[in-house]
Amino acid sequence: MDKIDEWLKRANEELGNPKTPQPQNNLLNKNATQPQKGNFAQQQFNKSKQMNQKKFQSGGNQPRPMQQQRPVQQQRPIQQQRPMQQQRPVQQQRPAQSRQQRMPQRPQKSMPPKTQQKPANLQSPTQPQKKQQRPSGGNRGGFFKSSGQRITKPVSKKKIEAQKHPQPPQILKDKLKIVPLGGLNEVGKNMMAFEYEGDIIVVDMGFEFPGEDLLGVDYVIPDTTYLEENKSRIRGIVLTHGHLDHIGGIPYILPKLNFPPLFGTKLTMGLVKKRIEEFKQEKLAKVSIIDPDVPIRLGKFLLKFFRVAHSIPDSIGVVIDTPVGKLVHTGDFKFDESPAGFQKKADIDKIRALGGQNVLALFSDSTNALRPGKSISESEVGKTLEELIMKTTGRIIVASFSTLIGRMQQIIDYAQKHNRKIFVSGRSMRETMEIASNLGYMKFPKDVVKDIKQYKNKTPDHETLILTTGSQGESVSALTRIANQDHPHIKVKKGDTIVISSSPIVGNERAIYNVINNLCLLGAQVINNQIMDVHTSGHGYQDDLKTMIDLVKPKYFIPVHGEFFMRQAHAFLAHQRCNIPEENIIMIQNGDVLLAEKNGVMKKSDEKVDTKYIVIDGLGEGEMGSQVQTDRQIMARNGALVVLIHINRKTKALKKTPDVVSRGFMYMHETEQITQEIAQMAGEAYKTIHKKNKNANRQDIKQYVKQSVDRFAHLKLERRPLIIPLIIED
Ligand SMILES: [Zn+2]
Ligand SMILES: [Zn+2]
Repeated sequence: MDKIDEWLKRANEELGNPKTPQPQNNLLNKNATQPQKGNFAQQQFNKSKQMNQKKFQSGGNQPRPMQQQRPVQQQRPIQQQRPMQQQRPVQQQRPAQSRQQRMPQRPQKSMPPKTQQKPANLQSPTQPQKKQQRPSGGNRGGFFKSSGQRITKPVSKKKIEAQKHPQPPQILKDKLKIVPLGGLNEVGKNMMAFEYEGDIIVVDMGFEFPGEDLLGVDYVIPDTTYLEENKSRIRGIVLTHGHLDHIGGIPYILPKLNFPPLFGTKLTMGLVKKRIEEFKQEKLAKVSIIDPDVPIRLGKFLLKFFRVAHSIPDSIGVVIDTPVGKLVHTGDFKFDESPAGFQKKADIDKIRALGGQNVLALFSDSTNALRPGKSISESEVGKTLEELIMKTTGRIIVASFSTLIGRMQQIIDYAQKHNRKIFVSGRSMRETMEIASNLGYMKFPKDVVKDIKQYKNKTPDHETLILTTGSQGESVSALTRIANQDHPHIKVKKGDTIVISSSPIVGNERAIYNVINNLCLLGAQVINNQIMDVHTSGHGYQDDLKTMIDLVKPKYFIPVHGEFFMRQAHAFLAHQRCNIPEENIIMIQNGDVLLAEKNGVMKKSDEKVDTKYIVIDGLGEGEMGSQVQTDRQIMARNGALVVLIHINRKTKALKKTPDVVSRGFMYMHETEQITQEIAQMAGEAYKTIHKKNKNANRQDIKQYVKQSVDRFAHLKLERRPLIIPLIIED
């Protein structure tokens, strides 16, 4: 019997007693649900096996989620029009929204460090772009020895050549390849590809909010060059949950990959659908809802799912069953015995069962690997909030994340119980509440929860609770506007209690403290997590992480989701508290390639894939470290200087002293004298180059003038502005 047959037989045996599959709810077609028989999954799997066995062996099968074998009305993905694979992507259209839609775990500022900046005069638009740097070390077990130093990856000529003439993708026989494209050098832009022979699946497609040094940039998305080169082999994208660090990249990346099908749970896909619609991609995107109790097959991958607790409902982990072995990807998770809101509990039994299934490798969330103990339950936070609502006599304003659906449900429930009406401010919060309540993840009477526009100070203070966004001090958010006395409907006054039901994400502290200061100045009492437990993280602490490893009992352990130091802490925990041998803990970075073979050995390969930081900037897209970024940084730090050189059209001789215009470069009292000196200097520089070389081209002349002015500005003021020489002939 062929090895794939053997594997299929094993997969079939495991599917023998699946839980009764839940009817799949189609977002558009509510009538699509139908009760199913107990071993439906097995029947379907067998059927699909028979039907596809030939194709399957040749590796040429198309993605075929098992649900799609159901009666016609159940097959439909959200978007009923399924375009052909070859269809060209539409031009991306950016919605007016987006910036405001913040995700709960806003990534910390963790861009790779910049190489030492060259002076402005040495930069030319043709210089090779800076490559991403990554922490060194960390091969098998290497995390114990890693120096943590960062190294620069040089751009080889060979690589540039290879990019110009891409080779046809090499397909490795009998090998499972794992390629993390994001989420390993940062908290954010999570994305990981799994590849077996001719098939690729991808888990998550997130983005990241930029650090402060990325001026004017909206988001950072993963580099998908590798997937673009192999797009015909992508069988599907599986989304673990609806946070933007897991789904935010979809509208930007999907067109580059020819719209491979997307799979996720009901709420996740509700949020994905919203993003896709904002970008007018609904006709091209193929969106399918999965039931975590029903496995799907994508190419040679058999995918099973387990529910996990997280700060958004409907979060799942993925079991990726392959001919080489079984992999478990946790997604973001914590263990919470009493989660809030309308969501199913985590599938502890399924996770425990994995412990007896020889899991080859566990990829687990490291975000809170440095926090000892166990994370607090969401309902504990609820109790604190209820007490607060009960005891407060004045008006209450609660700021939180828009995707904390369980938290909002609790607040609404307690507000109702204590006779308060709820007014919602902030577009992302209203939109998420609408999606969640339409899909059954939130329940509240419409007359109790109202839009802030309907709040006209008529409701008595002790009957008012305002729910708002802006708990991270975002400049355009409702809470910031309230603090700046700039909100059209809410004026803070003495007696108001403001609860910040979140914790500051690294990098946002200053902004939040400014908001709190202003609110206190206006007479409000501000309560945050430092005062009472009004927030809990969605990511497990050390005890939660240990429980996951102990339950799954993997052979190899790979910490994912987080900065290097977080993942390293997770690696230590796996070794010291869970007895995973040091050599079986693999530290990888974005762009590394892991290989697993049928003998059950997994190791890092020498291959590397591109991991540039792709920045989304308004309607455009570029690479981090590009000239645009560098210019912006120079202008922000040192200002800009324009030098206008007037010359005679025929003789090319200087007609008069150049004009100098500067912005953000000089202080008032310096201006006149320095401007004159610079103009003089630029004129001399022009004369010199003109005398030396009568045929010098414009580019050379500009470069020479630029260098001279730069040297002068540096000597005189110790500043290096962006210098723009312009030659005007007349
Ligand atoms: Zn998350
Ligand atoms: Zn996340």
